[in-house]
Amino acid sequence: MIKLSVVVPCYNEEAVIDRFDARIREVLGALPVEYEICYVDDGSKDGTFLRLRAIASEFEKETRYVSFSRNFGKEAAMLAGLREATGDAVVIMDADLQHPPELIERMLELHELGHGQIIARRTREGDKKLRSALSRLYYRGVNKWVDVELVDGVGDFRMLSRAAVDALLSLPEYNRFSKGLFSWIGFDTVTFDYQNAAREAGETKWKFSSLLNYGMDGLISFNNRPLRIAIWLGLTLSALAGLYTIWIAVAALTQGVSAPGYVTLVAIVVGLGGVQMMMLGLIGEYIGRIYYETKRRPHFLVKETHRSRERRPVVGSASYAAGHTDGRARVVATEREM
Ligand code: UDP
Ligand code: MG
Repeated sequence: MIKLSVVVPCYNEEAVIDRFDARIREVLGALPVEYEICYVDDGSKDGTFLRLRAIASEFEKETRYVSFSRNFGKEAAMLAGLREATGDAVVIMDADLQHPPELIERMLELHELGHGQIIARRTREGDKKLRSALSRLYYRGVNKWVDVELVDGVGDFRMLSRAAVDALLSLPEYNRFSKGLFSWIGFDTVTFDYQNAAREAGETKWKFSSLLNYGMDGLISFNNRPLRIAIWLGLTLSALAGLYTIWIAVAALTQGVSAPGYVTLVAIVVGLGGVQMMMLGLIGEYIGRIYYETKRRPHFLVKETHRSRERRPVVGSASYAAGHTDGRARVVATEREM
């Protein structure tokens, strides 16, 4: 019997986490697998963490959880969950029941056929018009520029084989743009479509601005082509300026010196200034990334896990504060060695 791990990043999911847990256990219980659920509390500010604790003590054998010292983002939460997972196959899914747990059965069949990544791709039916149009536009544009293939509608809902998980865990970078990482590692990938459900409770953590930033991450994390563009743009502009200078010189020689447009001059100066600013910003982005990578900070800090729980017999939110200040937060690598 194979062992299946389900990784669930949770950020302020108090309203839905119990419902999720019941649904997923029902589904997994009916499958011919041994299972474990790895919850990651991404520094939630509501009672998610206490709910997870309660779930873990109720289903001690099949539940693992990691709680972060603060919100480190979904990418970090997924990483923590993948590190925690011990299964032969690992499913990553959201806590809000937008990813139907019933699809796991289908994924399992495909896994048994030997696929390394089984991806559930959501159709964009029922999405807000503007958001889906923008996403489509983004993917069309971005795939021209990045070196890995990003597919519209493909999110983090997928099953990974043990080999694929180990491959992901071997990538040490700090900036984790997981859509790109998933695609970069390869392995035999299959995709099937499903209809995305509405969020059961709670609310989405994505604001429009964070989506834009996420989009920018996707562009920059996976190649240096934007820098190439900067070089080409610079060359083109210099060539144009050179030609223009020659033209003016010739005109001056043949027709005498006239006073050419002041406006043209201003336009050119300002235009070029803008281009330079933009390119500087772009270079800055890359340098910023290098800066973060060289710090070699851990991706997240752990406040509590199902392992450390036994050592701390406190109930309620008081323990939350205590846990925060007693210096127990530590790098996950050490956590794992224990
Ligand atoms: N999430 C997280 N950390 C964050 C933001 C989100 O772990 O900083 C989790 C969240 O709890 C949920 C999943 O990531 O399980 C997807 O988030 P959400 O449903 O808000 O995104 P959407 O489905 O709207 O894209
Ligand atoms: Mg959601």
